[in-house]
Amino acid sequence: MNRHDHDAAILAGAGESPADAWRRRDLDVVWHPCTQMREHPHALPLLPIARGEREWLVGMDGRRYLDAVSSWWTCTHGHAEPRIAEAIATQARTLEHVILAGCTHEPAVMLAERLLAIAPRPPGRAPLSKVFFADNGSAGVEVALKMAFHWFRNGGQPQRTKFVALENSYHGETLGALAVGDIPLYRRVYAPLLAEALFAPSPDAVLAPPGESAEQRAHRAADALAALLAAQGDTVCALILEPLVQCAGGMRMHHPAYLRRVRELCDAHRIFLIADEIAVGFGRTGTMFACEQAGIAPDLMCLSKGLTGGSLPLAAVLATQRIYDGFLDDSRERAFLHSHSYTGNPLGCAAALASLGIFESDDVLARNRTTAAKMSERAASFRTHPNVVDVRQTGMIVAIEMAPGADAGVDGTAVEIAGGRGLRAYREAVARGVLLRPLGDVLYWFPPYCIGDDALDLLAATTRHAIDAAFGGPTCA
Ligand SMILES: *Cc1c(COP(=O)(O)O)cnc(C)c1O
Repeated sequence: MNRHDHDAAILAGAGESPADAWRRRDLDVVWHPCTQMREHPHALPLLPIARGEREWLVGMDGRRYLDAVSSWWTCTHGHAEPRIAEAIATQARTLEHVILAGCTHEPAVMLAERLLAIAPRPPGRAPLSKVFFADNGSAGVEVALKMAFHWFRNGGQPQRTKFVALENSYHGETLGALAVGDIPLYRRVYAPLLAEALFAPSPDAVLAPPGESAEQRAHRAADALAALLAAQGDTVCALILEPLVQCAGGMRMHHPAYLRRVRELCDAHRIFLIADEIAVGFGRTGTMFACEQAGIAPDLMCLSKGLTGGSLPLAAVLATQRIYDGFLDDSRERAFLHSHSYTGNPLGCAAALASLGIFESDDVLARNRTTAAKMSERAASFRTHPNVVDVRQTGMIVAIEMAPGADAGVDGTAVEIAGGRGLRAYREAVARGVLLRPLGDVLYWFPPYCIGDDALDLLAATTRHAIDAAFGGPTCA
């Protein structure tokens, strides 16, 4: 028995369950992310998790929870995947870390080779050919933004200081990433600290008025972007977007035609296209990368979350040779001096290589097509639900949007477990053994790829109960 189990056992002996003991000790010392801590412990009890197993999380109380959100969209092949665990353990006994400035190591080189080999590569376009490593998604976004700006500065166009981003976008929480994000609750407080960005209308298909198709909506949003760039394009260095699905913005989806138009517009105005595939990359949308579905390649591509299968923090920014070459010079100041202590960490790279190996050995993309079809069947019945206004799907993401209520999330925007309705849905789902974290009024399925049929059935049934509870129906909580 280790010290913590020992402590827990003593407390349990004193009438406190081990799970309650961990809750209490946690709240004494841990400050949680994306949380109003005041809501703990009563409105939102913490879930102490002991271990993970495929699509399941096992609580300290022995209860099992289906991880319907893949632990913030990171987990691809399932929790505690033995092949990834083994790769990390082997690497940890060999080389746990080394400074990546002036040194190199096998996992970094192999991972860079492998990522470039699978990156989108439409014919006639220069491929992505260099990889810059960082250690989380927001840091990867910072890298891409700084590279784009710095490239133009090196090239004698310092007036190109602005970024174009999309309405309802999300690119992370650091100040640079927050500046190109458009979710008011995350952004507003820090607005005085943020660089100015230009926001273009979202191509979001849900915003199409009756009679307008998703594709028409995409073209209308692209027309608006064209007008914005015609007016201000010469002050812009890059456009950043989340291809196909704006995840944090409420799993809002758009037609791939938008991405083709954006690619053309970026080329016409000679600005870089940054694809933030941090949430959608690695098979989530049905292809390895979402850009593939539009037949385009970006100039810079940000990857993180699923990169290591959800096991370790790591990010990679893929860049074209043209961008890389813009930094080659005798001057240090023209070099890209950005660095993080754990840049290219060997453990993270080894985990990522193991994850990519699983995509091949298990033919994950093919299996995902089958699983996505099963998700689609189960989602269909929600289309006629009286309290549901929209059901949408892209690959392994299903979003079920509830009718907006008087107690919708703050500003009506997508914020995790924001209002009374989202909170009631969340609590009901947890009570039924499913970790389903709504974004505002949007319940979504974003499961580990290994999810089984029974778990899918549980997910669909629980979602129904969660919606009922959200609208004041009976609860089992
Ligand atoms: C999660 C996310 C980020 C930020 O990644 P972190 O690792 O949480 O910093 C950036 N962009 C998108 C699209 C994301 O979903």
